[in-house]
Amino acid sequence: MTPEERISALRAEIAHHNERYYADDAPEISDADYDRLVRELGQLEVEHPEFADTESPTRQVGAGALSAAFSPVQHSVPMTSLDNAMDGDELTAWGERLGRGLDGVPAQYVCELKIDGLAMSLRYENGIFVQAATRGDGRVGEDVTANVATIASVPKSLVGAPPVLEVRGEVYLPIEAFEKLKASKEAENVARIAAGKKPDPVPVNPRNAGAGSLRQKDPSVTATRELAFWSYQLGEVQGGPEFTSHHETLEYLQQLGFPVNPEIRVVGDLDAVYSFCRHWQDHRHDLGYEIDGAVVKVDSLAQREQLGFTSRAPRWAIAFKFPPEERTTLLRAIEVSVGRTGRTTPFAVLEPVFVGGSTVGMATLHNQDQVAFKDVRPGDTVVVRKAGDVIPEVVGPVLSLRPEGLPAWEFPKSCPCPLQTELVRPEGEADTRCVEPECPFQRDQRIIYFASRGAMDIEGLGDQTVFQLSEAGLVADPGDVYSLTREQLMGLEKWGTTKADNLLAAIEGSKSRPLPRVLTSLGCKGLGPSASEGIARRFGTLDAVMSASEDELATTDGVGPIIAASIVRWFSRDPNVAMVEKLRAAGVDFGRVDVSVLPPVLAGKAVVVTGTLETFNREEAEAAIKDRGGKSPGSVSAKTFAVVVGAEPGASKLTKAEALGVPVLDEAGFRHLLETGELPA
Ligand code: NAD
Repeated sequence: MTPEERISALRAEIAHHNERYYADDAPEISDADYDRLVRELGQLEVEHPEFADTESPTRQVGAGALSAAFSPVQHSVPMTSLDNAMDGDELTAWGERLGRGLDGVPAQYVCELKIDGLAMSLRYENGIFVQAATRGDGRVGEDVTANVATIASVPKSLVGAPPVLEVRGEVYLPIEAFEKLKASKEAENVARIAAGKKPDPVPVNPRNAGAGSLRQKDPSVTATRELAFWSYQLGEVQGGPEFTSHHETLEYLQQLGFPVNPEIRVVGDLDAVYSFCRHWQDHRHDLGYEIDGAVVKVDSLAQREQLGFTSRAPRWAIAFKFPPEERTTLLRAIEVSVGRTGRTTPFAVLEPVFVGGSTVGMATLHNQDQVAFKDVRPGDTVVVRKAGDVIPEVVGPVLSLRPEGLPAWEFPKSCPCPLQTELVRPEGEADTRCVEPECPFQRDQRIIYFASRGAMDIEGLGDQTVFQLSEAGLVADPGDVYSLTREQLMGLEKWGTTKADNLLAAIEGSKSRPLPRVLTSLGCKGLGPSASEGIARRFGTLDAVMSASEDELATTDGVGPIIAASIVRWFSRDPNVAMVEKLRAAGVDFGRVDVSVLPPVLAGKAVVVTGTLETFNREEAEAAIKDRGGKSPGSVSAKTFAVVVGAEPGASKLTKAEALGVPVLDEAGFRHLLETGELPA
């Protein structure tokens, strides 16, 4: 393809995606993939200026055709886009361009969050809200006044406002509202499927759901969606006060009653700008709304004037974009895995895609209902999301790209293991199970779980090794791990002395794990680390646990009747008892109770830790709380006793603690709490 052909193909492709994104609120590709197309086009246009075109998407504020459902609104002050920087180098390059544009005079910057929503212009005449318009192509937008009027955080009247005031900002859907909307759509879909109807598309992310919610023909639908607004700029103003800096305009907006984001910072140099960007890149999930970057703006309005605009964006601002957390890719197949308790989990086999900081080739689809109401089918292009530490998720299919006649996926009737036992889905349960205890897939998973970090922590005994040992017939249950010999291991493909000796040493080391870990490692349904702690503390040895009654177990800290029944059932099965005896014969410690002798001064109290402490890492801080009988949950609620705050705390935890009046402690206060169980005076 010649550069000219590629340029024209890219322009057509981008125009298509603009239409799908801006006009239909239903993009076909992820923002990252879209940005890549725009960058490629921009690069080609720089290399081949002979093909320049003022109509090119690189020169315009992107918009599909305006919807006929809304009347057009002419913007008196254009609504622009933003140029973007993908990393520190591009930010530095922008700083250098600024330096040249300002003849070397240094600038002060305002750093803001880049809210992932929909740009909006609000117009007030004599203090009364009269019009709201979308950005459209930057010159003409859509009149969405009736829809925006339903947003609680948009002021409807102002005190002391000038005769004409336009306020620009972002309408967005808070994550909680998005989750609620998604859950209600999913529930509707379960009902639809049960009634033999096709499921409706489930909203993919807060941005698209928010834009879709706002651009409803019927504003009463918008009203149910709990949209919100952050203001960040003035548009046309007639007869208002004069300002010299952007941060003064933000203060003014706040005084008038507009929501202004509390995280906005004024900083003196680009290093501080970069720190702000990096900080929010790491903490983006601490917020109750989605951001896709930071926006950096020159503060001085005189300097802004000097710098001016390109055809589509101001030169005095830049969007620092975060790495993508959503991409689209091909769903090659749906397969089913079998867990240690027989639970089957469908998972997506994907064309590998780089998202959320790593390459994702597989993603869980949770259970049969999820596959059904997401209606993802092998052969679909799907949206994959990996946000923060969260496991990758297939959000849904891109329906407009579905090949014609693509069949729906059906849940398999039998276990994928060689025994091919028929799968069952107990009435009222979401999970489909393999109920054959001898299922080799379950068996392998039990051994993997036994050796995992939270259980016996046997370094070197991961999935692949377990599969290899199991295939060679060397292990059939976790107890067999202790009779492995050097000769057996050396006989396996790709095993040498070092690898074999390391594994045997790790197995030997695991024999002295404390009782709570031994209990956890058994893989008894419901018996996780916290229930195991409580049981170990109360009974002291594995033998005492084995002879405990269901009632005794049920009244143990962290254990209820369901787990108690599960434990009793587990020990009543002969193969399980035989396995436990193998552990005993191997010399696994059944009675080392690693319980703390500390007084339980925090019994019943929940203490949340956020940020980095100087003398404790996160695990140590949480262990110190638990050793004294307390709990250390991951989020703040009205029941939280205190929040311990280190350096760079999670903003939402802190804000919530303040809002709920939960005491906030520094490290010294935390030490006092650990010693006395009381808050410092
Ligand atoms: P942009 O989203 O990169 O930046 C401009 C926009 O940022 C503004 O219009 C405003 O809405 C928003 N913004 C949020 N917080 C802000 C703040 N504090 N100050 C100022 N503005 C703020 O650029 P764009 O031109 O609106 O859209 C291009 C982007 O849209 C692409 O990079 C891509 O992410 C997305 N897009 C995706 C597709 C797709 O098919 N997936 C298609 C078109 C556009």
